[in-house]
Amino acid sequence: MTRPLLHALFCGAFAFSASLSAPAADQLDVVASFSILGDMVREVGGDHVAVTELIGPGGDTHSFSPSPSDAGRLSNADLVVFNGLNFEGWMERLIDATGYAGELVIASQGVSPLTGAEHHRADDAHEKHDDDHAGHGHAHGGFDPHAWQDLRNAEIYVANIRDGLIAVDPENAEDYRANAERYTGEIRALDGRIRQLIDALPEEATVVTGHASFGYFSHAYGLRFIAPVGLSTESEASAANMGELVRMLRAERVSALFYENMTNPSTLRQLAEESGLPIAGTLYADALTADGEGSTYLGMMRHNAELLDQALSTAN
Ligand SMILES: [Zn+2]
Repeated sequence: MTRPLLHALFCGAFAFSASLSAPAADQLDVVASFSILGDMVREVGGDHVAVTELIGPGGDTHSFSPSPSDAGRLSNADLVVFNGLNFEGWMERLIDATGYAGELVIASQGVSPLTGAEHHRADDAHEKHDDDHAGHGHAHGGFDPHAWQDLRNAEIYVANIRDGLIAVDPENAEDYRANAERYTGEIRALDGRIRQLIDALPEEATVVTGHASFGYFSHAYGLRFIAPVGLSTESEASAANMGELVRMLRAERVSALFYENMTNPSTLRQLAEESGLPIAGTLYADALTADGEGSTYLGMMRHNAELLDQALSTAN
């Protein structure tokens, strides 16, 4: 199927991006919305795929705005993989604009979504903390998109990606299955390791991050997270939220503050100054890093758990 109008519109930008990452003739051209999914697709697809990420390492998917060259990338893809749960609020418009009619993988399909209500944000500070997360009923802000922060959800992501690759390239189904199985084994092993690390931390250990991106981590591994803003980095901390948070940091046993690798650190710096608490490092939240241990999904999850372990086991 050709789309002459679109090609005319985006020809220049497309030609440029294609020259940067042209897939080999026998490779699938897979577009992943952001870096974490890009890494998962490479793990499952192996040599059969050439992956383009719309939002690369360190990028903020919440505040992303697609460009004509992104449209060009999509219109030429064999497969598009995105997170869903409204993480990429711009995706539907982008798909409409490009007329992309190929296979879509919603990586989070099948996970049990959490809602913003499960998060311990500053404005939830008056709520008693308990481990009963059954209260899905009183959502006040839609689903939490950050499902990859629970490695058991990553197993579902991997299965969805595997099935999408098989749907567009059934010839290599066996390879996709084998890669997914090997990768899932690594995911499970790391899940066990993280559970061990976090279980050993003091029960009251509490962590502050830039936005509410660790709800699934908290739900899965049992650590308490609070943040000055909600589920999207696009929201801004209100003076009331900041005031409430500083009061909480003083009143409760908050152990450490952490930067996130893709958000502006100014709010965190302000909180650290006002509370006198240390900033213990950078957690990888919504993006991989360009190099180092955070450049893969498993490396990022391992880094986060080890950093939390270091910061919280010595702080108490
Ligand atoms: Zn986020």
